[in-house]
Amino acid sequence: MNVRDSEHIIAELKGKENYSLTDDSSNADLILINTCSVREKPVSKLFSEIGVFNKKKKNGAKIGVCGCTASHLGKEIFKRAPEVNFVLGARNVSKISEAIKKDKFLSVDIDFDESSYAFGEFRNSKYKAFVNISIGCDKKCTYCIVPHTRGDEISIPADLIIREATKAAKNGAKEIFLLGQNVNNYGRRFSDLNHKKMDFSDLLEMISEIDGVERIRFTSPHPLHMDDKFLEIFALNPKICKSMHMPLQSGSTRLLEQMKRGYSKEWFLNRALKLREMVPDASISTDIIVGFPGESDEDFEDTMDVVNKVKFEQIFSFKYSPRPLTKAAEFVNQIESSVASSRLQALQNRQEEILDEISKKHLNKIYKVYFEEKRSNGMLAGRSDNNALVQTEGKDEWLGQILDVKITNPRRLALYGETIF
Ligand code: SAH
Ligand code: SF4
Repeated sequence: MNVRDSEHIIAELKGKENYSLTDDSSNADLILINTCSVREKPVSKLFSEIGVFNKKKKNGAKIGVCGCTASHLGKEIFKRAPEVNFVLGARNVSKISEAIKKDKFLSVDIDFDESSYAFGEFRNSKYKAFVNISIGCDKKCTYCIVPHTRGDEISIPADLIIREATKAAKNGAKEIFLLGQNVNNYGRRFSDLNHKKMDFSDLLEMISEIDGVERIRFTSPHPLHMDDKFLEIFALNPKICKSMHMPLQSGSTRLLEQMKRGYSKEWFLNRALKLREMVPDASISTDIIVGFPGESDEDFEDTMDVVNKVKFEQIFSFKYSPRPLTKAAEFVNQIESSVASSRLQALQNRQEEILDEISKKHLNKIYKVYFEEKRSNGMLAGRSDNNALVQTEGKDEWLGQILDVKITNPRRLALYGETIF
């Protein structure tokens, strides 16, 4: 979502204010730092980054801090770093033109409604188009700062989403990547009370009918809202890529309750295994937090049990990081950092074994790969429908094409193969 926010900011500045991008910060008129605050580490990096840019910047150049840390620290950023000219919260991106024209500007209102704002066009990739479908998040997971930085959830009007996806497809993007904190809760609340009633499955069907759209991906769906209708559309619609992100967080029902995730270990396993049965070739990725307050050895074993049963193709694993404004930061039973670290290590070691097992299964398979990038090793890289990273020798004109690749050397992090015609 931050990447897309940055694209929106660049689109506004290029389209309306005559700015262009530079790689050289000492030559820039404006330096923007778009921030994350989900975990503590990026927040602590912010002030050292500001210091570095302040030394490098040319006379009169401005510095702006955007994103979630801007939302949660607000005017404190001015106190700690007076050289910053403006602070623009994650939900205030559309005010960028106003911000750059003032000496000091602060806008971090998490109730500001940008859901119907039509941003200008800028995309980092011509092949893949990120499209936001909602802003904010209505869940109140006890560890998570996002609802406090991005506010309540509002779905973006369907016609705006369709218009954006259609334009991207016309410009050559075969893949539309839908973004939201809770995508499969789409339709929960629109600003326009007369908006047609619809849900995420309806939206997926509408997007799949757009000319030129060949692939649809999305993140993040919430396991709680993975009902049968959603799984069926996922399985049956050929344009929906067969890779699902299912953020588990913990395998322990007791901890899931403490986290206020709204589902149990059994529900998660039921959904994941049903998905494996319905679409055997689908890949499933997940997010896991270790060391949540009160996590016992048994709770962690429950997490490992889910990992062993589902055998995720990819795990994003994090050590719990207490965040300001969240309930869990106040819990008295915080876990020792060394215990969390050793659990994280055990989880990652097990996942490496699982990946070694999984990667062997790809040998000699033929995948449709959408070539998007030329790597520094000279190889072309792209993703299979089920999101495996595939690399082959190839020609530059294959970029932007979906071609069949036979896997000859499956490795843990990438599959190597040969294009077949
Ligand atoms: N809306 C998404 C998550 C967005 S945040 C969802 O519900 O899945 C991305 C990931 O960061 C989360 O899935 C979680 O695993 C991790 N995360 C969030 N808060 C965290 C915290 N306080 N400590 C460690 N990891 C955290
Ligand atoms: Fe955070 Fe939970 Fe919302 Fe995801 S669903 S953004 S983890 S509060």
